[in-house]
Amino acid sequence: MNIQLLQTWYLENHRKLPFRETKNPYHIWVSEVMLQQTQVETVIPYFIKFIAIYPTVCDLAHAEEEHLLKLVEGLGYYRRFRLMHQAAKIIDHIYQGRFPNTYDEIKALPGIGEYTAGAIMSIAYNKPYSALDGNVIRVISRYMGDDRDMRQQKNRNTLNDINQSWIEDATPEIYTQAIMELGATVCKPKNPRCGMCPIQEHCVAYQQNRQDELPFLSKLNGPTSHHYVTLIIEDDDHYYLRKRDEELLKGMYEYPQFDVESIHHLETLLQEQGVELIIEEHYHREKHIFSHQVWHMEIHHARLLKGKSPHWISISKNQINEVPMATAHRKINIKR
Ligand code: SF4
Repeated sequence: MNIQLLQTWYLENHRKLPFRETKNPYHIWVSEVMLQQTQVETVIPYFIKFIAIYPTVCDLAHAEEEHLLKLVEGLGYYRRFRLMHQAAKIIDHIYQGRFPNTYDEIKALPGIGEYTAGAIMSIAYNKPYSALDGNVIRVISRYMGDDRDMRQQKNRNTLNDINQSWIEDATPEIYTQAIMELGATVCKPKNPRCGMCPIQEHCVAYQQNRQDELPFLSKLNGPTSHHYVTLIIEDDDHYYLRKRDEELLKGMYEYPQFDVESIHHLETLLQEQGVELIIEEHYHREKHIFSHQVWHMEIHHARLLKGKSPHWISISKNQINEVPMATAHRKINIKR
């Protein structure tokens, strides 16, 4: 691999992203967490707002979790932000707000794995630590012509070793960003732009015209379907919401939602708990697709007649947009 060509290409061609124009380890960490499972274009406005509201890791450590979740509402995978919050508190307490600067200290923080630790060490501190994400896996597997299953950790470990050996001969802060950028903008999943690739000369996939076959990723099981009855319960100027404590979407608010066969089963279930509702006849259905789940929601409007579940929280209609809510419920059309 001609590392010098790759790095020169990066310096001349990279996109001017707000999180690529900084060496601040906290900012790089925030961006790497946001970029997990999320497109760059989506992340940019969230990143700018996040850094404006929490400019330092201590500001994040002292944030209210609900404010934090509201700020990132719409990005999904909210567990990553709750872990980030825990890590910020540790940095605030243990390191007196100074972002740690060794790989082991960084990797020991909640929510930080090898990839994120490698990205922070190389981009912020210019130290040679591999950061192997999906883009880098694609570039290296194509460049080496490696057609083993990259869902398997042992095969990814081989690529990580190659990436580690390359970064040791490179300028780490440039190299890590360069190989990620190459994967994002040139060596793309479909229709890679090999004609403008700085490492084309020795690329095995290019020579053998096998770009479409690599990387090889074995098929995953499809998403599981879940059917819910969802209640939009309101009185004159309030809705009743529930704060989730399930691992999926923990800390986010939702309209009360039940895994029951029908609205009639739900009415019976709630009556047994001393809750009586007037449920409107008209209802509609909506669907939301997560990466591993599909929610099919049958949505009913209701008014509370008697009793109330201890899990339901009354929220003023004016404030409904101020609480953190997952997109699956935020997008429900609650108007009748
Ligand atoms: S030559 Fe094409 S397939 Fe090979 S690394 Fe470059 S863009 Fe990817």
